[in-house]
Amino acid sequence: MEIIAVPVLTDNYVWLIHDPTSGQTAAVDPSVAEPVLDAVAATGWRLSHVLNTHWHQDHTGGNAAIQAATGCSITAPAEAERVSKVDHIVAEGDRVRVGNAEAVVWEIPAHTAGHIAYYFEEEGMIFVGDTMFAMGCGRLFEGTAEQMYANLQRIAALPSDVRIYCGHEYTLANARFAAHSDPGNSEVAARLKRVEQLRLENKITLPTTVAEERATNPFVRASDAQTLARLRSEKDSFR
Ligand SMILES: [Zn+2]
Repeated sequence: MEIIAVPVLTDNYVWLIHDPTSGQTAAVDPSVAEPVLDAVAATGWRLSHVLNTHWHQDHTGGNAAIQAATGCSITAPAEAERVSKVDHIVAEGDRVRVGNAEAVVWEIPAHTAGHIAYYFEEEGMIFVGDTMFAMGCGRLFEGTAEQMYANLQRIAALPSDVRIYCGHEYTLANARFAAHSDPGNSEVAARLKRVEQLRLENKITLPTTVAEERATNPFVRASDAQTLARLRSEKDSFR
């Protein structure tokens, strides 16, 4: 599988997943249509799927125009029906195919009530939307710290080399918070330096890996949901 990041809006990433054998291509969380269609055209690929992780407009806003342009099918959690037409509603345990690759759907509510992830076990990759970020986690708009804690522990229990594809480039702000909240962690300090350099060069910091998040993500490293809740509210006002 080939993966391309399409940076859109301020800090969103739309991920293109391409199966060279079948020619099928999925766009994960297309905020907008035009840059996604341009990126697909530049590769010569054909867009066959849209996969949404949650209903937020900056993850679904391009659905309709992309479908109109390509005839692709839209797969999403039920909650996305409030903002978009959905062809395939999926829930925990459902299987989604992109060419020869198959993802299993995980329900990981908290950022939104119906948030899902797409885990491609054989390919060793998971698309987590706004639930986990590199060195951070999503805001708790429609769920609890307990739910988020369970989600992050579930992702962190995957094999250490699984690549994690997140919905936003938030790594630098998250790394600064991690250095503040976990000052004795030398791996956090080293990663902050690497991330500062990458962002200085305007380079992407994703995907991350399970191993990196276990070592440097304060929300993954939180000992319980209460600690996660405290960190999350500190982060909300951290500058
Ligand atoms: Zn969101």
